Amino acid sequence: MALSVVLGNPATDRHTIAQRLREADGERTAGLFAEADDVRRREVGECVHFRGLIEISNHCRRSCWYCGLRVEHRILHRYRLSADEILACARAAAAWGCGTAVLQSGEDSGLTSRFVGGVVERIKAETPLAVTLSLGERCRRDFLRWKRAGADRYLLRFETSNNELMRRIHPVRRGTAPRRIELLRILRDMGYEIGSGVMVGLPGQTYEDLANDIAIFAELDLDMIGCGPFLPHPATPLGRGRVPLAISLTDQVPADASMALKVIALSRLACPQANIAVSTALSTLDPMAGRERGLQCGANVLMPNFSPSMHRAKYAIYPAKSDVGNNERESPDALRQRTLRLGRSVGSGRGDSPAYRARRAERTATMRESLP
Ligand code: SAH
Repeated sequence: MALSVVLGNPATDRHTIAQRLREADGERTAGLFAEADDVRRREVGECVHFRGLIEISNHCRRSCWYCGLRVEHRILHRYRLSADEILACARAAAAWGCGTAVLQSGEDSGLTSRFVGGVVERIKAETPLAVTLSLGERCRRDFLRWKRAGADRYLLRFETSNNELMRRIHPVRRGTAPRRIELLRILRDMGYEIGSGVMVGLPGQTYEDLANDIAIFAELDLDMIGCGPFLPHPATPLGRGRVPLAISLTDQVPADASMALKVIALSRLACPQANIAVSTALSTLDPMAGRERGLQCGANVLMPNFSPSMHRAKYAIYPAKSDVGNNERESPDALRQRTLRLGRSVGSGRGDSPAYRARRAERTATMRESLP
């Protein structure tokens, strides 16, 4: 458990977090953003880390009610990058100056354990990049194999800590249970840096649910956090208005940019040393200033897209993603300019989270002490 999770700490107290999420007063909300910005500056500094996002496959075996990649979306044109294509994207990310490649996909059985292991090995051998995987729920053996191949980090959003809601919108595969939080602990024990997050404003999500999510970020002592507004996709049950859980309108969290920013800010207070990303979903909702606003209320990571442009539109988890097509404002160079204009610098190197570095140092010290 993180040091910050101590009794009476308002940053991790569910009741206080819920109150701050519900805050309607503009001045007090601006105060929250300023406080998160101060904590960000003090704990992780002025550097913004750039991670090169590579969407390696849009095949998916799941039926999530929120996601456009769901298996039932039959008219979606599916693609899976070859190892050489992934390596070309990774090299481009490294040449541009990213310290990390993030390989993301639907939950694709066609991405075999051996294939992913081989790709990770090649990226580690042929580039200086740290490798983050975000390939959904897989078995222990796969996670272990990829760790041994050199993978550094794993991103797996738990989407919502409300189990009843999660069961509805993320139907479990036969014989398995909702277990993303458990998987995150397993990944942590294997030595991965772990990242997670939730969608903000899911239908059926209450302020109390969302406050609980943020408190769990601290309990898990996350190294990385990524949260974004829920954006309805017309080819999904939630996009067509299905109601997963009936709750009152006053309890329903809105899926807007200002709520997403509050979640970034409260995540920074709950996990001062985590690497916190501004999501593409926030930038889709607020194309002109979403990235800037995120970086000014607690975030310190951007993930420009390095996927081959011919496939980008097909990675349609929600419609009109801001990094699709010729959107110049979202190119890596434009994001760098936008970052510098805020008076921030662009990080070099791997950009591990300070929390992770501290844990590693502690582990090494304990190992030394236990040596004869
Ligand atoms: N298959 C992987 C990666 C999924 S895409 C996995 O399940 O972990 C990454 C994230 O996009 C998801 O975790 C989810 O939080 C987010 N996402 C999916 N559909 C979305 C939607 N309609 N609106 C906003 N975010 C969405």
